[in-house]
Amino acid sequence: MGRLFGTNGVRGVINKDLTIQIALDLGRAAGTVLGPGDVVVSQDSRMGGTMFTLAATSGLLSTGCSVIDIGPAPTPTMQLMVPRLGCSAGLMITASHNPPEFNGIKVMGNNGIEVSREVESQIESSYFKKDFRVSKWNDIGTSQRYDQAIRNYLDAIKTHVAVREISNQNLKVVIDCANSVGALTTPQLMRELGCRVISINAQLDGRFPGRDPEPTPKNLLALSKMVRAVGADLGIAHDGDADRTTFVDEKGQVLWGDQSFAIVASRVLSRRKNSVLVTPVSSGRLIEEVVKASGAKIDWTVVGSVVVSHRLAETGAELGGEENGGVFYPPHQPVRDGPMTAAQVVEIMAAEKKKLSELVSELPRYFSAKIKVPVDPGKMEAAMNVLLRLSEDLNRITIDGIKLVYDEGWILIRPSGTESLLRCYSEAETQETADELVQRGVALIREAIAKL
Ligand code: MG
Repeated sequence: MGRLFGTNGVRGVINKDLTIQIALDLGRAAGTVLGPGDVVVSQDSRMGGTMFTLAATSGLLSTGCSVIDIGPAPTPTMQLMVPRLGCSAGLMITASHNPPEFNGIKVMGNNGIEVSREVESQIESSYFKKDFRVSKWNDIGTSQRYDQAIRNYLDAIKTHVAVREISNQNLKVVIDCANSVGALTTPQLMRELGCRVISINAQLDGRFPGRDPEPTPKNLLALSKMVRAVGADLGIAHDGDADRTTFVDEKGQVLWGDQSFAIVASRVLSRRKNSVLVTPVSSGRLIEEVVKASGAKIDWTVVGSVVVSHRLAETGAELGGEENGGVFYPPHQPVRDGPMTAAQVVEIMAAEKKKLSELVSELPRYFSAKIKVPVDPGKMEAAMNVLLRLSEDLNRITIDGIKLVYDEGWILIRPSGTESLLRCYSEAETQETADELVQRGVALIREAIAKL
């Protein structure tokens, strides 16, 4: 049987790989497996968002599920609403940080967390066998709008931070909303936390005229310039569905994801004894050091935000995080939440009366590099198998992908869950060594591809 889901839901090029037929049948399959009951639906600003929402809604209604449409919103906003509105499931139309021509669908269970691989398999089985629940004429569901989701969500975040303390600092913040749904939450949130707010790329536009939706340093040059030009205390950038935040310090320097993650982790984990951090094997030495210094422990997982969320929900660990800047704060909800992370960082700046660059400079320094290498579609598994053979004699960890451990640092090679490419990461004590290591990894990948 075929696979429908990648790392974070179903994704594809709009009207080519991802069609309204797929959205319709996925709605039918999700309603069959996760229903009966109410299902929250939402979308980011991508092209086709309404088209796919309506198709999936039709599918859900035909199974007897009812739909609560909260309108465009960040993924974490819709995730919070699923348990809050007592729903059985949630469907989010988004392709997160993918290029503009992509859209996708994430499926959440009744706790608001994206469904596990096991539940995905059940949905795939219903989808491919066209084994759908078909309601009798008088059991078909209804669809209604709910307009308070963003208000409810902002209020929820504000219960977890010291609003007055942040307000007293009167921080100036520039927010790059990526022309997507972060624009609906984060400028308002920061204003309500007493910050002076300037927004860029704040109009919703699925063509993403401002920048690519992935908040990488090269996509954040405008934000970085704006922070310096207006003398702001920090810059905040979201990805397309605002489950992640990238920060820019007052000097215009873009923080690495693991730096903001480490700043939040060191504070949250040291609040209690024996705290536990859930994080994938891709996290590096900085996180290990910060956790050790906080007297906490790491619970390692395979790579993937969904696995981290489920582990947090099962174990009740204090915090989760990923080196790409995704932070999971379970007292709020056990999923990546960009606006929540932004609130936590301004709270730390306010409480400690420190500039963001100072918070960064207190962290131990490691350097990293990342390169993507395209692989012909369908050849990924073969390429990984050759790589496993080629690296047989090296010191390596193969929990997830191949992590090669050297005295001077490490290399991690993993297939992308969403695109036909291999991701190669490295980390070392100098940038030069990190660059050298990542090139060593790329050379190994090229050698493997040549052998295919
Ligand atoms: Mg995202």
